[in-house]
Amino acid sequence: MSKNKSSESVKVVVRCRPLNRKEESNGPAGGIVQMDLRLGQVILRNPRAPPSEPQKTFTFDAVYDANSKQRDLYDESVRPLIDSVLAGFNGTIFAYGQTGTGKTYTMQGAWLDPEKRGVIPNAFDHIFTHISRSQSDKQYLVRASYLEIYREEVRDLLDPNHGNARALELRESPETGVYVRDLTSCVCKSIKEIEEVMNVGNQARAVGATDMNEHSSRSHALFLITVECSQPGPDGRKHIRVGRLNLVDLAGSERQAKTGVQGERLKEAAKINLSLSALGNVISALADGRSGHVPYRDSKLTRLLQDSLGGNAKTVMVATLGPSSQHYDETLTTLRYANRAKNIQNQPRVNEDPKDALLREFQREIARLRAQLNHRKWRSKQKKEQVDGEGWDRDGDEETEGEEEEEEEEVEKDAEEYVKLEEQRLEREKEAIREDQFLLAEEKQRLLGEKERMMGDLRKEQEATEQLTAKYKAMESKLLVGGKNIMDHTNEQQKMLEIKRHEIAEQTRSEREMQQQMLVQDEETLELRETFTSLQQEVEAKTKKLKKYLKLYAKLQCIKAEIQDVNDEHVRSRQELEQTQNELTRELKFKYLIIENFIPPEEKNKIMNRLTFDPEEDQWKFQPLVPAESKSSQMKKRPASAVGYKRPISQYARVAIAMGAHSRYRAENIMFLELDMAPPNTATLDRSTEADPNQSPSMDNSPAKDKGICKSRSWCQTPKSITSSSSNVSLAACHTATSTAAQ
Ligand code: ADP
Ligand code: MG
Repeated sequence: MSKNKSSESVKVVVRCRPLNRKEESNGPAGGIVQMDLRLGQVILRNPRAPPSEPQKTFTFDAVYDANSKQRDLYDESVRPLIDSVLAGFNGTIFAYGQTGTGKTYTMQGAWLDPEKRGVIPNAFDHIFTHISRSQSDKQYLVRASYLEIYREEVRDLLDPNHGNARALELRESPETGVYVRDLTSCVCKSIKEIEEVMNVGNQARAVGATDMNEHSSRSHALFLITVECSQPGPDGRKHIRVGRLNLVDLAGSERQAKTGVQGERLKEAAKINLSLSALGNVISALADGRSGHVPYRDSKLTRLLQDSLGGNAKTVMVATLGPSSQHYDETLTTLRYANRAKNIQNQPRVNEDPKDALLREFQREIARLRAQLNHRKWRSKQKKEQVDGEGWDRDGDEETEGEEEEEEEEVEKDAEEYVKLEEQRLEREKEAIREDQFLLAEEKQRLLGEKERMMGDLRKEQEATEQLTAKYKAMESKLLVGGKNIMDHTNEQQKMLEIKRHEIAEQTRSEREMQQQMLVQDEETLELRETFTSLQQEVEAKTKKLKKYLKLYAKLQCIKAEIQDVNDEHVRSRQELEQTQNELTRELKFKYLIIENFIPPEEKNKIMNRLTFDPEEDQWKFQPLVPAESKSSQMKKRPASAVGYKRPISQYARVAIAMGAHSRYRAENIMFLELDMAPPNTATLDRSTEADPNQSPSMDNSPAKDKGICKSRSWCQTPKSITSSSSNVSLAACHTATSTAAQ
């Protein structure tokens, strides 16, 4: 990555937590991590190596040992970043390290103990204190969102339906870069409100998991704060600067055991560290600077942190270590990871007047509500003056803001007074009407009704004004005005203390930088002193040279050991990957077996032809049976051949229907299903005839009707009374017709 003027590298600081009780009781081995706070160095001892083996040394922007205070880390390494965010830069702080090394402690800490409050609560204080102390011509809008990435799914922690909600999608825009679609964002007016937002999210995180520890060590939590600030520029127009701050508590970086798991569990295990290994690859690609392609798209986390790593942001990485000798390998990996991240170059710039600034929308809406409200109030005032009988002339352009405010207050008072006076007047008039004896009762009723209506209108008007005022006030209260709201800014002592702390932190930082530079220069100057005059000097010089060679030799040994370590690690991770691959291949073979033996080939082909891969969601999807673009035109319109019919019908069938031919061409009911409404014919049975043995039942023709044999009129015998519609011709009628024709 080319270094240009505005580029700056990712700041990397390392923090080591104290030994915990269990580790202390494990034995006298003590910690394996030593720190040189002045030089910013971490010295790592390999507990398994012989004492002669040189220790590993890494240099960082700052290091914090077991005795370090939360406040020290904040003032020295985080405060400058938050200041930049308040000035309109993007900023990211992420904590990286093995589970149990203090990532959450560093990011959140113990909220109730002022000494142990972590980066996030301190950042809240910092932001809102800054706002309260800034000049009064500045307006701020602060928003917060909270999300987690678990098993490669982005979940909104502020969504009340968190547990059941769908995973969110990532989108990209040229203005804001990568963002999460439909993510909840809460406007916060005070420290209390933003802390409340954080609590809600933390609870959702805890509820979402059966085992909080397990869950939190496997999910990444991102708390996002957007600070928009509007200030009048030299051109007289209000300019908006937007700073976005990402506070990231990553999942534990330790390797998850993948052996012996199958199916869903295997997929889960493969996904757990996907984001972290992708982060490692991104850091390597950026630090290396040679490979053109940076694999940001490989995971959700790297996409979300795209700007923070090699883009438009200032970034601080806090790598956390445990001092225990048990975790030597993980600690070394963390240090290597952090060491690589130091070389990443970012190009931060101030985000000035972005199109999507919410503050601008708020300002417009507030101005609109204010105009509406003013209009209403002026109207009431004018009416009042008409009532009072005086003229009123507005000349607002020449007034200053203070005068305008005063005038507004006066207008508001006048408007209230007007309503009161109007009500009294209407009451008086009503009373007068009631008492007027010359009016007819009907006329009285009408006039009273009219006054009542006027009174109602007046109240409605007043209610509408009140609602508008409430909306306006709610909207306005969301904007924070510099130097006005939130906190008293009279605490000068506090302010001075903070400035002093800031200065000290600044000084420590520059001292450390100088020390580091001197160390490098020492080695270089040694080479320059080559001239000597006497033998004594020659001996001295050669001894020095020898010392230097010895130093170099030690360094060489260190580097050799390092190379060996890196090789070992690569072999280990390759073996792990191979193992995962073998297990996945076995799973694949199993699925193939099922597909080949139990799914007919044509069905399989049909399915395969319909499948497409969606890279956004990282999933295979079925294409719709009808192409999306033709769906509306094809499915919604009725085919021309079906107009007036229930289903499409051919020309031939239409002619056949018109001719009343075979029932198969009928589009509507092919059976005549109307109820037989004719009354049943009944008659008394003549027993004597029935008793006659000579008379066979088959002989019973026309006279039988007269004799009253019960015979209900069947639909099959009466096709004649059919209505005009061709479709009403009954099936039976048709059937009889065809059979007669056949005879
Ligand atoms: P992680 O989030 O990395 O899994 P935690 O932040 O939960 O680890 O820390 C594990 C434990 O260690 C907690 O009990 C925490 O209080 C303690 N701890 C971590 N860092 C420190 C520190 N710098 N000082 C004191 N205690 C710490
Ligand atoms: Mg944690």
